Amino acid sequence: MTENKVHDMVIIGGGPAGLTAGLYAARSRIDVLLLEQMGFGGQLLTYERVDNYPGFPEGVGAFGLAELISAQALRFGLQTRNAEVLGLDLGGKIKKIILSNGEINARTIVIASGASPNRLGARGEIELTGRGVSYCAVCDAPFFRNQEVAVVGGGDTAVEEALYLTKFAAKVHVVHRRERLRATPVIQEKAFQNEKISFILCNVVEEIKGGPEGVRGLLLRDRRSSEEAELPVTGVFVFVGIKPNSGFVPSEIQCDSQGFILTDQEMATSVPGVFAAGDIRCKQLRQIVTSVGDGATAAFNATHYLEEHFSE
Ligand code: NAP
Repeated sequence: MTENKVHDMVIIGGGPAGLTAGLYAARSRIDVLLLEQMGFGGQLLTYERVDNYPGFPEGVGAFGLAELISAQALRFGLQTRNAEVLGLDLGGKIKKIILSNGEINARTIVIASGASPNRLGARGEIELTGRGVSYCAVCDAPFFRNQEVAVVGGGDTAVEEALYLTKFAAKVHVVHRRERLRATPVIQEKAFQNEKISFILCNVVEEIKGGPEGVRGLLLRDRRSSEEAELPVTGVFVFVGIKPNSGFVPSEIQCDSQGFILTDQEMATSVPGVFAAGDIRCKQLRQIVTSVGDGATAAFNATHYLEEHFSE
């Protein structure tokens, strides 16, 4: 549906960064619309619990936290719409957001479209996705009750999700390509203490084996000896980093070599009036707490941009 109206701000993405930008913009009493193509919460919806967001000494359910953040933004009047963004036309003073079913006009844009899990690139991965290969433990762990599964990766996501999987699976093997994990030490400690988790280090996945009935195992290669061995598992959870959801971002907006958007400390991109916040940004620390900070900063500076460029 194409609108003639021009919004002061359009936020693309309803994860913690976008919702916080929406909260701050709505409290500034500007006309702000947030576009989200799925549910509010972004990657939060793929986690079970959050232990490092301040204010919750016992941790907080990830889904519940997403609901709390969105309820707060909606209370101050943030408008939202379910929409898929296909492109941006940034040629004029008024910018256009191109949707699958029309266009929306905006004076400023905050891009907070987040990131998605990387594929591993192993043989058999694509064919067996949805038949034993998964990128979301919260979504698929119950299918592997009392079974033996593997987690591939050594970062925070891999180790936290391995811990979550122990609630369902009989055994969880964490396969990591190096000798040391990348995950935060406190998360590693928990995993080392869990008897259901085993670590297979310095190993790479050559192939995910299986057929129409599902996954049968992993073909692993030990990087120290080059020896290959098969690990019989019925589920494989891949957590080998993230890629930016930037398919709709035009080339005028400068990105790094991986497609993460470059911003200054005001969250301004290379195009005046366009800001970016959260995991879509090229940044050092990707956490909920840094995303909400980005969202607030982006909304604050976008509001200043409006005052400078659009007030009579
Ligand atoms: P990440 O930190 O980039 O870690 C990716 C892991 O996958 C690394 O261990 C990496 O190995 C491995 N890997 C990458 N490509 C691979 C390949 N082709 N084959 C095998 N292994 C491969 O990604 P993440 O764990 O998804 O986390 C993403 C961001 O979210 C991070 O900034 C993380 O801190 C944050 N996060 C935070 C929390 C939390 O604070 N509770 C929870 C989840 C995520 P190397 O170690 O050898 O590079």
